[in-house]
Amino acid sequence: MDLFEYQGKELFARAGVSVPEGRVATTPAEARAAAEELGGRVVVKAQVQVGGRGKAGGIKLSEGPDEAEAHAAAILGMDIKGHVVHRLWIEKASDIVAEYYASFTLDRAAKKHLAMVSARGGMDIEAVAAEDPDAVVGLHIDPVIGLTNWQASELVYRAGLDRGAARKAAAALRSLYGAFVSLDCDLVEVNPLILTGDGDIVALDAKVTLDSNAFFRHPDFEAFREAFTVDPIEALARERDLNFIKLDGSVGIVGNGAGLVMSTLDLVSLVGGKAANFLDVGGGAGEETMRNALEVLTHDPSVRSVLINIFGGITRCDQVTGGIIGAAGTLDLPWPLVVRLDGTNAEEARAMLAEVASDRIVPAATMREAAEKAVLLAAED
Ligand code: GDP
Ligand code: MN
Repeated sequence: MDLFEYQGKELFARAGVSVPEGRVATTPAEARAAAEELGGRVVVKAQVQVGGRGKAGGIKLSEGPDEAEAHAAAILGMDIKGHVVHRLWIEKASDIVAEYYASFTLDRAAKKHLAMVSARGGMDIEAVAAEDPDAVVGLHIDPVIGLTNWQASELVYRAGLDRGAARKAAAALRSLYGAFVSLDCDLVEVNPLILTGDGDIVALDAKVTLDSNAFFRHPDFEAFREAFTVDPIEALARERDLNFIKLDGSVGIVGNGAGLVMSTLDLVSLVGGKAANFLDVGGGAGEETMRNALEVLTHDPSVRSVLINIFGGITRCDQVTGGIIGAAGTLDLPWPLVVRLDGTNAEEARAMLAEVASDRIVPAATMREAAEKAVLLAAED
């Protein structure tokens, strides 16, 4: 999971890496208040997960609250390479003497961590590397030993960072590496890592990718995840471990596996309908999962009919059907269900469905038939 800059900086601060003090703002008024609190010159920064915000006009230096408010009004809602700005980070302006680059990633082939450092930060590092490969220095780090003091100093010297800042720069690299390891990151990239007029090393940008498979070790990361889900139905689905994406049609789609759900979407549009959502219940779905899925859909007012398309592998079709029938009996579902199942225990499942078949629970033999029936029912309602 990729974090926003302000989230990455929060983690950096916890790991002992210096970052400018700042505040999140979602309105021009909040940006003004943040600037008043911070005092002096501030930088208004668009929080979108794409590089080159500076060039795109998403980063503006402001002399004070008035200007911060005006810049915030201009940046909020801006489209930066397809990412709409909903949130800003207002931070104290830094006194930049030099801009460096530093990153830590996994080098899977080498089975080691890889540090990359350059004295030419602040710009597109791929362009720097293409133009002058020696300007970016790399170093493999044994994950068991970690980044030693000696190695960090070597990186600083080889990359040609300012001599006067060498000790602090090496310490900053070690703190960043500490964050990379202890927070289970796939990537930590700081561009620019700056040298200030006071001789301090400060992370001015933060690109952090967390390994979501390690979330069980970091319960506090859930708060980061929440910042991404604006849609309340998506948030509810996520709470139930379901993958829900809102679309703009009227047929609710429930399937197991992204591939199956996508082909179901295609079929629905092929027969002239439009999907209201994409709901993937994942592998091994049982009764509880189906109940949760249907409950999530009851919160989506644009749903007119629901198409359930399940392929049983590890998932057992009879269990899924038990869940559907149970949910239909207790949840008072506001729309009809069309159900198509195949695979493990499909015979048993079909027999169960045949017993309860009605105008509210409609069995279908094939995907196409299911799509046609669901589209028809959505139009009727
Ligand atoms: P990116 O363009 O999305 O990578 O955004 P960055 O956060 O890296 O900012 C781009 C550039 O804006 C930096 O390289 C700096 O030159 C400039 N910048 C960002 N914050 C400050 C600041 O506090 N003070 C000053 N003077 N410049 C800043
Ligand atoms: Mn940057």
